[in-house]
Amino acid sequence: MFEKSLQGVERPGRYVGGEINACGKSFGDARVRFALAFPDVYEVGLSHLGLRLLYHILNGMDGVMADRVYAPWFDFEGRLKEEGEPLRAIESRRNLKDFDFLGFSLQYELSYTNILTILHGAGIPFRADSRSGDDPWIVGGGPCAFNPEPLASFFDFFVLGEAEELLGEIAGIYEGWKEEGAERQVFLERICRVEGVYVPSFFQVRYGDGGVISSIEPLREDHRSVGKRLVLDLDTGSPLPEKPLVPLLDIVHNRLGIEIARGCTRGCRFCQASFIYRPVRERNPARIVSEAKRALEKTGYEELSLLSLSTGDYCHIQPLLTELMRRFSGEKVAVSFPSMRVGTLTPELMELIRQVRKTGFTLAPEAGSERLRRVINKEILDEELLAAAESAYGLGWRVLKLYFMIGLPTERQEDLQALVALCHEVWKLGKRSKAAVNVSVSTFVPKAMTPFQWKAQMRREEVEDCLEYLKVNLRKPGMRLKWHHPGQSFLEGVFARGDRRLAPVIERAWRMGARFDGWTEYLREDLWEQAFQEEGIDPSFYTYRERSRDEVLPWDHLSSGVDKEYLHREMNRGLREEFTDDCRWSECTGCGVCDHDQVRPSLHHETPVEFHDGAGVGEAAGAHVSEGVLYRLQYSKTGTIRFVGQIELSQALMRAVRRAGLPAGYSKGFHPHMKLSFTEALPLGMESEVSEAYLTLTRREDPQEIGDRLNAHLPQGVEIRNVSRVARRARRKGAQRVTYVIEGLGTERVRRVLEAWPSRSEDFLEKKTKKGKLTAPLHRVLLAVRLADESSLEMDLVEIEQACFRPMNVLQHLLEEPLDNFGECRVRKVAVWQLSEGEGEENVGRAHHQC
Ligand code: SF4
Repeated sequence: MFEKSLQGVERPGRYVGGEINACGKSFGDARVRFALAFPDVYEVGLSHLGLRLLYHILNGMDGVMADRVYAPWFDFEGRLKEEGEPLRAIESRRNLKDFDFLGFSLQYELSYTNILTILHGAGIPFRADSRSGDDPWIVGGGPCAFNPEPLASFFDFFVLGEAEELLGEIAGIYEGWKEEGAERQVFLERICRVEGVYVPSFFQVRYGDGGVISSIEPLREDHRSVGKRLVLDLDTGSPLPEKPLVPLLDIVHNRLGIEIARGCTRGCRFCQASFIYRPVRERNPARIVSEAKRALEKTGYEELSLLSLSTGDYCHIQPLLTELMRRFSGEKVAVSFPSMRVGTLTPELMELIRQVRKTGFTLAPEAGSERLRRVINKEILDEELLAAAESAYGLGWRVLKLYFMIGLPTERQEDLQALVALCHEVWKLGKRSKAAVNVSVSTFVPKAMTPFQWKAQMRREEVEDCLEYLKVNLRKPGMRLKWHHPGQSFLEGVFARGDRRLAPVIERAWRMGARFDGWTEYLREDLWEQAFQEEGIDPSFYTYRERSRDEVLPWDHLSSGVDKEYLHREMNRGLREEFTDDCRWSECTGCGVCDHDQVRPSLHHETPVEFHDGAGVGEAAGAHVSEGVLYRLQYSKTGTIRFVGQIELSQALMRAVRRAGLPAGYSKGFHPHMKLSFTEALPLGMESEVSEAYLTLTRREDPQEIGDRLNAHLPQGVEIRNVSRVARRARRKGAQRVTYVIEGLGTERVRRVLEAWPSRSEDFLEKKTKKGKLTAPLHRVLLAVRLADESSLEMDLVEIEQACFRPMNVLQHLLEEPLDNFGECRVRKVAVWQLSEGEGEENVGRAHHQC
């Protein structure tokens, strides 16, 4: 039934799991079951490192299992609804309702409607107070949990801060509560005492004149305010997964991500992450290297990304990068890092980046003028920025990206003029080398728990004017302007500082059809306008209004550890254009997070940088053959992996080659590619027992051993059936005859096809090809149809002008039924016959189906 729902949906591989290193722990054997949910599409959700860390940590606990779920795309949501099927977790295929906890990662305010899609898909009531003993606990964490008030009525509880250590405590409390068979409320009363847990139903919010909050009253003595949870030592408290997940589908960040540090104390006054994840904690550099080696061996990834809020600030970044490149470049592993700050870009570091990154070079001045950069505490001088740009061009970069915000507090026309002037200067520097400049602009959205949490957001009309000004003034050949949709920034602003009165608006907008609001092309501003109107809420109350120091903010009962007074002081310092230094390199500035005993910045300045000498990944001895040795791999692709496309299968096979430690040959040049090619691209959804690939190795290996080693590392459903050494890739000598088995047709359809086929042989079939429309009589396309079993057929189709008609299209023609009707049918390619120039045939597929 589940597989039937996938027929014809866009990218069905999103819903089938099967990733390499997926834990696949038994649902039945676990005492506590978590479903980890990311309220966006699979490709975005699986890219998120935090949720992947929690997935591995939970599955590493005794008696606990964790599965995953992502927001269904429009078509799949509709399909499940049509068929009355629930949304299921992707590994266990269990309904989400069967889990004990459904934990949402709250990364972005514009994913809130997708939370409701997931709850609805599982048949879980939206409101926490409507849920009963059978329903899972709905929990949220991530940056949006620092002001989760718009979602308060949908969630049972939230986790503030870092959940690694806390989840085990919750699981323990849950087991005790379940054993006792106590009331639902009892569980909440127990977990509210766990540091970092926030139970919104234990607070009463009252509103006063003008709609502002008059009070947030705790309803229990033991849950009066909530602080965040913190992992003090990342190396021990947040271990990197031993065997990280490797997706089969191409996802947004399809590489090995290693978090090298957490927290940033640069103190950019607009940046929520900078205030909620303090203090800075770094991982040990030697451990990063050894963990990277292990993870690369277990995953076969070809790119390693060093992640943190500001990777260039990691105290040993240069030796670390040098060491990683020394070890892994021979294995064609690229090392990259997404976030670099202008001030951290030494010439040596830029040279290293140049060797590992060939794509765009990003600089983020954030504000156009030095004055405005002082306001936001981003002390970068124009000359530093221009020097970095000049070095980048000098080192060969041809695309430079500049990132800015508009609408920052105190912004004036001169700041926009300065932004334009700075872009022009950078553009002029690049002009000599014909380099392009991409300018990216987003609207500043004030966030909770930052120094600018009291400031007003720029009005939509003013945003449009600013963008218009930039569009006119940044029009140059080789300069591209990209901007964030002002409607999205507005909605983000509403929810970022919203309160509990917004839940009905979210629900109403969802019921009217709002989904994937963070995707510009799917944002339905009309629906949101209507939802606000019908709920009697003025959204500009949350965005365009400056708050006074005394106003009760919706998140005042929650704390990131940074004093509210400190934030206010920082706001005023910003308005006076005063700089606050980073406590990593200067004195503590007194933000309040650290007790300077247990909680303090944890850096590795003093740690000697010693990397135990060792080889990179998968290095092995052996005689290299310079021209390479070619092997023909015959393989099958069956089961749910048929929903993974050919390009992605190719990547999965390459990673299996790397995990198996086979000495693959690579092309030369800047972007070396593994020498692996395929003789065909199997259509999505079709299985095959007779597919072929060619792999070049740099030395001779026993074919049997190649097959065995690969089979130990291939994704489920792909199996190497035979390996042979060949001199060259086989040339196609003529047309091919291909035998397919079509299962699940049903006896009636089978009878109709067998009866209709002989009399319809003069019918014409049509097919679109790259060269245009191909027309051929049925008798030339379909050589034979046989009974496979009472509800399945076997068909022999022959290529016409090197194009093969698909068996389902032939059946659709014979049965005169739309393609959608065949959702439950499975097509498997079982034999391939080469038709030579004469009439003879040669079987080129080994796994010939016996019928
Ligand atoms: S308390 Fe001091 S040392 Fe700790 S994060 Fe804040 S400013 Fe830095």
